[in-house]
Parts: sequence; structure tokens; C-alpha cells
Amino acid sequence: MDFQISDAMKDLLERAERHMEETVFPLEAVVHEKGFTGARAELEAARDTVKAEGLWAPQVPKEWGGMSMPFREHAQLMRVFGKSTLGPYVFGCQAPDAGNIELLVEHGTDAQKDRFLAPLVRGEARSCFSMTEPERAGSNPTWLETRAVRDGDEWVIDGRKWFTTGADGADFAIVMAVTNPDAPPHQRASMILVPTSTPGFQHIRKIPIVGEEGSGWASHSEVGYESCRVPVENLLGGEGMGFLLAQNRLGPGRIHHCMRWIGLAERALELMCKRAATRMIAPGKPLATRQTVQNWIAESRAGIDAARLYVEHAAWTIDEQGLYAARQEISAIKFFVADVLGAVLDKAIQTHGALGLTEDTPLSHIWRHERGARIYDGPDEVHKYVVARKELKRHGLELGSAR
Ligand SMILES: Cc1cc2nc3c(=O)[nH]c(=O)nc-3n(C[C@H](O)[C@H](O)[C@H](O)COP(=O)(O)OP(=O)(O)OC[C@H]3O[C@@H](n4cnc5c(N)ncnc54)[C@H](O)[C@@H]3O)c2cc1C
Repeated sequence: MDFQISDAMKDLLERAERHMEETVFPLEAVVHEKGFTGARAELEAARDTVKAEGLWAPQVPKEWGGMSMPFREHAQLMRVFGKSTLGPYVFGCQAPDAGNIELLVEHGTDAQKDRFLAPLVRGEARSCFSMTEPERAGSNPTWLETRAVRDGDEWVIDGRKWFTTGADGADFAIVMAVTNPDAPPHQRASMILVPTSTPGFQHIRKIPIVGEEGSGWASHSEVGYESCRVPVENLLGGEGMGFLLAQNRLGPGRIHHCMRWIGLAERALELMCKRAATRMIAPGKPLATRQTVQNWIAESRAGIDAARLYVEHAAWTIDEQGLYAARQEISAIKFFVADVLGAVLDKAIQTHGALGLTEDTPLSHIWRHERGARIYDGPDEVHKYVVARKELKRHGLELGSAR
């Protein structure tokens, strides 16, 4: 199912599909065997091919070496890149770097752009985003323990963060720290750029997720900031603007995730269909003759199409009316698409029987990688609260505060 798309877009989609088949899917086994860090050379070679083809960093402005794509077109491309958990990395639009790039483009000073943004966009550096803390509920980003205190020309940062994706081997972190503890809750925190070579920046451990520790970009770490000193010029945006910037960063970040989840769900459905059509449950009787399996296929198709249209509408709203106008829709797609992905993956695994739990298909890895979809960038329940509050308001009713 597709709306009419331009010839230029068709060409881009075909080229992206070809790269996925020829370059990205074969890399999955390599990364599985060697780990992300061990497969660095192969991953970088794949990125070079993509750059040479002009398919690099669709969301980044052209002046910074990207493709300046509007959200709606980016959504279409991301559906293709998203079919593999490695796709966004190879095409230069992976979280958390994509969000950090957006922050630096929008709010970075010229010096910050030269030092941090330029190598990040070129894919020569990696970054991480350090907001969630072990001792505070991540679902309430106005309530943080990490402090940054000004001392002369420096910020001195102290605190502990976890689930900092890609911190292992990252060149710098953007950390959220309270700089103005006496201000109203939404104006207490600021974002600060911290090179990971700064004394006091500690990479404590990689946290295994559903048993998978990973490495490099494909890992999530606990990190510490202990009397970590950076120049005052490393403040990103204004003092006390951390929460506002986080909202600006997470909006596009959430829609990017939804776009790629549709790619993953498509892949799972394709594998489900192929297995159902070829697995014989009796001589001459493929699994696909069972109505239960037909129902799973049909429900998955409808779920993915509904999710896709919803995401494309949210992308269109951002393009036409801006991020603010799309915020309720972004919350709605965040929990809706995560749910569709989980349901399709579960059916695809069930269709494969025991095979679905092995590494002989990508399903098990995708499930481990994406169970977090209902938690990261805000858990389902918080997004449902946002949607319900808006809906009640539309009817002149109040829900009260969740916090
Ligand atoms: C794979 C992965 C990658 C991540 N990457 C990053 C990263 O790069 N940087 C970063 O800073 N963080 C990252 N996170 C952290 C993530 O954003 C947080 O886990 C998330 O915001 C939830 O916070 P929490 O885990 O502290 O859960 P809590 O806030 O403790 O919430 C626990 C549960 O309580 C329920 N709940 C919470 N609030 C409400 C409410 N208001 N109403 C009803 N129910 C509620 C929800 O079910 C929720 O799952 C990552 C997490 C994962 C799993």
C-alpha cells in the first residue's frame, strides 16, 4: 500500500533496498559473530558505499553533508533502513547521534558546531545522550540528581547515569544536569557537552539488555561524572533550557524510532509468510493452510499498514505545522507502533516454533533489541497519559497532573 510517490523517491527507495540486500543484511551475521566493535571495519566500509551513493544522513541539512529530507520522505526511507537494526547506523541516521546532531544544528554555537557537530555528521565521531539515572524515575525528566555547579570558567559535573546508549567508545556525551536547583522544575536542568576524555568521566559498565551486552554503538552503559570539569562554553543552548531541548530532541527521535519499527515489523511479517508457506505440518500441508496462521498474517498486515499511515500523518504534520502541532500524535504513534511491532514479532516467532528463538533467523535478536521500544524515549503509560489528557481537554474535561 502506498500513496503516489515521485520518481525521484522511487529511485531512492530502490537504491536503499538494494543496499540493504547487498550490504546490510549480510553484515548482520558478521556483527553477531564479532560484535559491533569487532566488525567496525566492515561497518565503515558499508557506510563509505552509502556515502558514495549519496544516501547518507537523510535527516541532516545539506549544508552539513546530509540530504535535507522532510520528515514524510525520511519516514519512507527509514522504513527500508529500519528492516535491520544495523540499517540506521549504516545510513547515518541512528539514535542517539541523529538527535544529538539535531540539537547541535539548532542550538550549537559556531565553536560547538566545528568541534562536535562536524565530525559527528561525517560519521568520524560518535556521541551519546546521558539523561536517565539509576536513582530517579526516567519517566520524569524534571527530577534529576546530577548537578553541574559553575566554578569560574568551568562547569563541575557530579552524578551517575545509566542506559546511556553508545557511551562505550563515544567521543562525547550530552549530559542533562541540574544547574538551577531553585528554578521551577522545567527550568532547573541544562545540557552540557562533555568529551569522554575529560578527567572524571567514567565508563562504569555495559548493561546487558535481555542478556545481550553488545559493544560500541550497539550497547547501553552506566556512566559516572565525578568532579568532571568542562569549560562554560560547553553549555548547549541556555542555562535552564535542558528540559525544553530534551523535548525538542525527543519529538523527532520518537518518530524516527516509529519509522524504523515499521521496517522491522515488515521484515518479521515477510519471514512469517515465508516460514508459513514452506513449513510442512503434514505431507503436502504447509502451516499457511491453518486459519490461525492466516489470521496472524492478516492481522499483522493490517497493523503495520495502520501504523505506517499514522506515522506518515505525524511526519506530514511536523513538515506542515511544526513539531509542537504534532506532539500528541507523536505520543500516540510511540505506543501504538511499539505495540504493533511487539505483536508482529511475537506472531512471527510463534510461526517459526523453536527455530524462532534461535539465532538462525534475525527474529530473536530483533525481539531482544526492541522489547525496550515500549520503555525508552518515554514508557507507554506516559504517552497514553499525554494523549488521554489532550483528548479530555478537547471535551472540556481535566485529568489532573500525573506527577
Ligand atoms: C534500550 C534502552 C536504551 C535507552 N537509551 C537511553 C539513552 O541513550 N539515554 C538516556 O538518557 N536514557 C536511555 N534509556 C532510558 C529510558 O529512556 C528510560 O528507561 C525511560 O525513560 C523510563 O525510565 P525508567 O527506566 O527509569 O522507568 P521508571 O520511570 O522507573 O518507570 C517504570 C515503569 O513505571 C511506569 N510508569 C512510569 N511513569 C508512569 C506514569 N506517569 N504513569 C503510569 N505509569 C508510569 C511505566 O510502566 C514504566 O515502565 C534507554 C532505555 C532502554 C531500555
